[in-house]
Amino acid sequence: MTIGAEANPSFLVVEDNPQDLGIVTQTLKQYFPHSKVSTAQRLSEAVQLAQSECFDLILLDLNLPDSRGLDTFTQFKIANLNESPIFIFSVFGNESVAAEAVAAGAADFYPKDYLTDSVLMGRAIKNTLERQSILQSLRNSEQKLRGILDSSPDGIVVTDFKGTILFLNTAATLLLKSLSLKVGSVFPTLPNPNDKKQITLKEETDSIDPKIISVVSAYSYWDNTPAYCLTLHDFSHRQKMIDELILAQRVADKSNQTKTTFLANISHEIRTPLNGIMGAITLLSDTPLSREQKDYVNTINHSSDFLLALINDLLDLSKIEVGKTHLETTSFNLNELIQCVLDQFAERPNKKSVTFKLIMDPNLSAWVVGDPWRIRQILTNLLSNAFKFTQAGNVTLSVSPYADSHDPKECYPIAFEVKDTGPGMSPCFLPSLFTPFSQENLDISKTERGSGLGLAISKRLADLMGGSLNAITKIGLGSTFTLKIPLKPSVEPNPNNFYSKANKAPLLSKLAGPSLPNPGVVGKGKRPPMVLVAEDHPINQKLVVTMLEKIGCRILLAQTGIEALSQAAHTAVDLVLMDCQMPEMDGLEATRKLRELSQYKTTPIIAMTAFVFSEDIQHCLDAGMTEVLKKPFKKTELEELLHRWLPTHFKSDSISTLPTLDDEMVKQWKEVIGHEDLSFQKEFIHLFFSTSQDFLSEAASAIQEKDKKTVQHLLHRFKGSTGHIGALRLTALLEETELSLLKDSDLPEGFIPRVQFELEELKTALN
Ligand code: ADP
Repeated sequence: MTIGAEANPSFLVVEDNPQDLGIVTQTLKQYFPHSKVSTAQRLSEAVQLAQSECFDLILLDLNLPDSRGLDTFTQFKIANLNESPIFIFSVFGNESVAAEAVAAGAADFYPKDYLTDSVLMGRAIKNTLERQSILQSLRNSEQKLRGILDSSPDGIVVTDFKGTILFLNTAATLLLKSLSLKVGSVFPTLPNPNDKKQITLKEETDSIDPKIISVVSAYSYWDNTPAYCLTLHDFSHRQKMIDELILAQRVADKSNQTKTTFLANISHEIRTPLNGIMGAITLLSDTPLSREQKDYVNTINHSSDFLLALINDLLDLSKIEVGKTHLETTSFNLNELIQCVLDQFAERPNKKSVTFKLIMDPNLSAWVVGDPWRIRQILTNLLSNAFKFTQAGNVTLSVSPYADSHDPKECYPIAFEVKDTGPGMSPCFLPSLFTPFSQENLDISKTERGSGLGLAISKRLADLMGGSLNAITKIGLGSTFTLKIPLKPSVEPNPNNFYSKANKAPLLSKLAGPSLPNPGVVGKGKRPPMVLVAEDHPINQKLVVTMLEKIGCRILLAQTGIEALSQAAHTAVDLVLMDCQMPEMDGLEATRKLRELSQYKTTPIIAMTAFVFSEDIQHCLDAGMTEVLKKPFKKTELEELLHRWLPTHFKSDSISTLPTLDDEMVKQWKEVIGHEDLSFQKEFIHLFFSTSQDFLSEAASAIQEKDKKTVQHLLHRFKGSTGHIGALRLTALLEETELSLLKDSDLPEGFIPRVQFELEELKTALN
């Protein structure tokens, strides 16, 4: 209803006195000209009208023919189903009754004595109507809010600071049904509003699953007094889902664990016989073979290499997928890493006309922190793909820092880009490029085909290192793979690192693999080393023994850990090759026992194992083993390992004690070139190494042709270059060889590999 002159309210006047009735209706017409006025003289009559119609105001005289006093109001109120507001007419001296009626719900009262004062009565009625209208708006708005609160699926409860409930919505009543909460009862648990945490209330019901309700509390106000507003949320369903997810996760973890164990075991089971096959092939290829037989041997060799690579890839992928990949965080030299990666490709027969280019950003910091093994693995894969798929053209490896929002002192992001001018890949193949076993461009020889796992592994490794691996390609134009790794800058080289000079050999063996320069058989006049081989598998035993014999070692054999201990106790052993799994006493136990003996505290004990998981390797190292030689291994690997651990047996004593570089000499040429001119220094070193390559190839063919004079001449000339650069040990070796040739002796065995080895050492020292 609108309040004002144009308002047209509806009234019911209940009055038995005709005169009074006339005055009231007259006043109403005067003040509310558009109003509708109904009248009744008896209570029964009024009740009937009030039930059939809703009035804006009912003006009720308490003394009627069929009812008197407060009773009139009480009866009428009960029957007033439409809840129309009631305005009482009180009789003089009986105002207390009217006041009681107001207390019981009447809108207001007006003394009958002032009935004739139409202005007063008109204003009183008008005020009452206005108040009623405001009250009605309030009721409507409260109803709306209540409706909203009741439609919330979350319970809302308002309590005072003691927890006494002042308000609760329908959802709250239903959520805590078993507690029969209502206004006035005390809420069971009050969370602290400062905590901003949620507490969980378990409602004890007869059902098997107790209801879990989270309660979050916040400060609020109720009737101008500080209060708590609690929000109740039924967590039971979510909790059930969480419980189910946890269970599913456990089942998945368990099956993943089973998968990993299965893979570890199967890998061991495959590696052990593969070791036999690969070893036997290596030995067989050293025997005189017809051309046809050589072809067969090559095929077996290639297939077993492929099988081993496949097993390694599968293991790698499964380890990444079960989160078992361990990343190294070590300080390493970027140039050295790149050199090691490239060394692997240096010996590849390049029947295609593919040229290679390396672009190293001159601003690159040489020492960085990260996982060099994994970066090497990815780069090797990318480069080997680039060489494999490019039939003609070029392959470029670029290494440069890239801009990043990180602090350069904290993070030193480096981009490695492998670009080729090969066949490229089709756009529809790209989405599956990093998916295991995805392959395209199978227009390559069978021997070059891979497993299709390399990029899947590389991508996952890049992600693990916090980096990325992406490819851009255009069919017919080539591909560019970009590996971005956020490395950290390292100022101080870590002396314990595989990349430092002291540990050069392990670095090469681990990174460069078997393509190392062959250090040659036991040096002339040296005592051959005594190697104890503890291996129970007859084929593997035979293979190691044959390889060791070829390298020139003396051998002691044991088939169990106990036998190994007894052999070592009776004969002085220089190095132990220990199988891990042996009957009676395994290799780990035998190693622990050997280490207890004073003469074997530092002797190299090398584990030979087909278990290649990092935890297996750790077990070996924990037992006191020095290093792990993974089965299957090749003769070159064993040879390199022996050379590393028994250098005095393989090197000429007088020369091997010399340092690689003559510091004085280096200082001299740096002074001549200029200490600041790094690029000129690099060029100088580069020139020296390319001269070395010429020397090596010319000397190798002269040796083959038994042209001693040319060898002498070449030696003499090369000695000049090595002397200038300060290669002390290499110069001594050349000098000694030159002298022996002058004395008419034969060229020493393994001269070329030895020079190659010394050049590698020199490269590291100069870096
Ligand atoms: P693999 O080389 O063993 O097949 P990868 O996972 O390394 O496995 O590569 C998956 C496939 O991606 C390759 O078989 C080839 O189809 C495609 N591919 C990878 N690198 C190149 C490249 N540089 N040029 C063309 N195709 C490539």
